[in-house]
Amino acid sequence: MSFNVKDIRKDFPTLAVKIHGQPLVYFDNAATTLKPESVLRALEQYYTTGTSNVHRGVHYLSERATANFEKSRDKVRDFIHAAKSTEIIFTRGTTEGINLVAHGYGRKFLKKGDEILISGMEHHSNIVPWQILCDEVGGNLKVIPLNDDGDIIFEEFEKLLSKKTKFVSIVYISNSLGTINPIKKVIDAAHQFNIPVLIDGAQAISHQKIDVQESGCDFFAFSAHKLFGPTGVGVLYGKAELLNQMNPYQSGGDMISSVTFEKTTYNILPYKFEAGTPNVAGVIALSAALEYIEKVGYDNIVAYEHDLLEYGNKVLSEIPNLRIIGTAREKAAIFSFVLPNIHPHDLGTLVDEDGVAIRTGHHCTQPVMKHFNIPATSRASLAFYNTKEEIDILAKSIIKAMKLFP
Ligand code: PMP
Repeated sequence: MSFNVKDIRKDFPTLAVKIHGQPLVYFDNAATTLKPESVLRALEQYYTTGTSNVHRGVHYLSERATANFEKSRDKVRDFIHAAKSTEIIFTRGTTEGINLVAHGYGRKFLKKGDEILISGMEHHSNIVPWQILCDEVGGNLKVIPLNDDGDIIFEEFEKLLSKKTKFVSIVYISNSLGTINPIKKVIDAAHQFNIPVLIDGAQAISHQKIDVQESGCDFFAFSAHKLFGPTGVGVLYGKAELLNQMNPYQSGGDMISSVTFEKTTYNILPYKFEAGTPNVAGVIALSAALEYIEKVGYDNIVAYEHDLLEYGNKVLSEIPNLRIIGTAREKAAIFSFVLPNIHPHDLGTLVDEDGVAIRTGHHCTQPVMKHFNIPATSRASLAFYNTKEEIDILAKSIIKAMKLFP
């Protein structure tokens, strides 16, 4: 498909919304992305004419919902290039995926004195579950330091790897810096010590093709809502040999094969990790989101967003005294920045008056703020439906706001 942003924008109804009488400039894609019509239609179809629970009924609607639900699993398998559909676990999102691994793998295999490695740019959801695990088993959390561009210092990572290291969990693309981490290099280095690696793919999956087999990662977590799909649903990919050895994360219906008061045996993969009624509509609509991305094409997305990144860097760096936080060589189109006289929250409120939606705060990455010695940033995070004209609107709005805080 040839890439025409004007046509693409027509697929996203939210882009037609006016904010304070101005066209919406939606630059909060790292928090959540907008949804195309096809995703909305899939949700509507399920709730209007297709409502039924999955895996339990023999009646027509239940069988149809189950078929669509499982078709979606196959779609995810193909999309991230997993070997088997049984390696695709539906979750509530990235956070739940990471908790599942910390619980199911960590509590089973980690012991006192073991070390878990994360990086200095992790989202809180890739910090706190490991801290809790360390508290419980007596493990130690080690952190790969960052340099002032917002890259991990790879040599320090290599130094931290040792026989004590029992798990590595690292973000692919940082939500607050935009850094694209060299995950293949990280995975290869960890695997030399037979250490499993989880990749937090929450941001990465909307910006570039994911191939879990090529990367060799052991786990990969993402959320549908950051991928033009619905909220409340996500995916954890895990290698079957590891998932099979792990403890269930939650327990109850669907994750069992038999229950007596004396003993329960667990279901096979992937159901062992899917206790209770899942987000059926969400899973089905996720498949529509994946189809939409395939239609647009990752090659187009990467090339177009790279253009936006270069343009945004140029335009924002022309604003006097604006400091971009996160200047890694490999970056996604995420611009975090600070201004000398305006607190990010004030800036966020002022640009909102011009219809521009940015996010301000610590972006659930307080250690990143500490590293750069700042309380917060303003963040414009772009997607393939954004335009250079919208970047100009943001820049104009920032300059206007700066005049109020000379
Ligand atoms: N990791 C990263 C890098 C993120 O950006 C986010 C969401 N901001 C998460 C994890 C958590 O995702 P969710 O809230 O969808 O579980």
